[in-house]
Amino acid sequence: MGLMEGKRGIIFGVANDMSIAWGIARQLRAEGATLAFTYLNEALERRVRPLAESVDAELILPCDVSNDEEIEEVFKTVGDKWGEIDFVVHAIAFANREDLKHSFSQTSREGFRLAMDISAYSLVAVTRYAAPLMKKGGSIVTMTYLGATRAVPNYNVMGVAKAALESSTRYLAAELGEKGIRVNAISAGPIRTLAASGIANFKKKISLMDDNAPLRRTVTQEEVGKSALYLLSDLGSGVTGEVHFVDAGFNFVVSA
Ligand code: NAD
Repeated sequence: MGLMEGKRGIIFGVANDMSIAWGIARQLRAEGATLAFTYLNEALERRVRPLAESVDAELILPCDVSNDEEIEEVFKTVGDKWGEIDFVVHAIAFANREDLKHSFSQTSREGFRLAMDISAYSLVAVTRYAAPLMKKGGSIVTMTYLGATRAVPNYNVMGVAKAALESSTRYLAAELGEKGIRVNAISAGPIRTLAASGIANFKKKISLMDDNAPLRRTVTQEEVGKSALYLLSDLGSGVTGEVHFVDAGFNFVVSA
């Protein structure tokens, strides 16, 4: 029997077949999970729908996480169909392209607000609606990056948003632990995706991994998916409030 047999959950953040959320979804489905997917807008629906159908998704719903009503509607629809859920994957981030290019002090008030809203606050809002449906406990996983705790070139306002996201992970974990709901973050190494294409000099982040990470390479969507499977299944039953690194060991090395 698969590790996720009998478990149902929602995947937020698939844009295409390169998305980390898709790498996670494939691992969960391979272990028997029943899935629902959300997509940001109609343009992305065309990409997400065939992917979701290929893993027998039971629901494929629109959701812009900057809009509370759309988040509420997703959980209402899921609640009506399933009654309860076991897990949520939150793999969403956004910042204005120019805020990932110019110097950090040039970040506008609106650019800062937008990055924080979509990349950090959305986890709080999603969890607020998910928790009442996690009647037998549950597990929530979000995606972060080393730029939350280190000043990584060009990551800028997204690093600040990831710091807020990691802190939110701990506060949510502390609040929801007594209900048997675990909340963790995976800090992934650099992976070529749509979101990553917005970060200036992203190629350099990959070559730094090839030269310096203990495994001498970066990681794959599949490897992130396997760690998400651990955190979302009963294998991770004693783990909450953690930032779990899937970055080939890069976070702890100092290059001479
Ligand atoms: P991606 O572009 O495939 O996924 C980002 C997703 O965010 C997309 O599906 C997009 O539709 C969604 N999104 C953006 N704004 C939204 C909104 N308002 N409402 C709903 N959805 C919205 O890229 P990815 O790299 O797979 O990113 C997934 C997560 O992984 C992000 O949190 C990202 O910061 C994180 N991450 C990525 C890397 C990397 O190198 N790619 C490394 C560490 C962490």
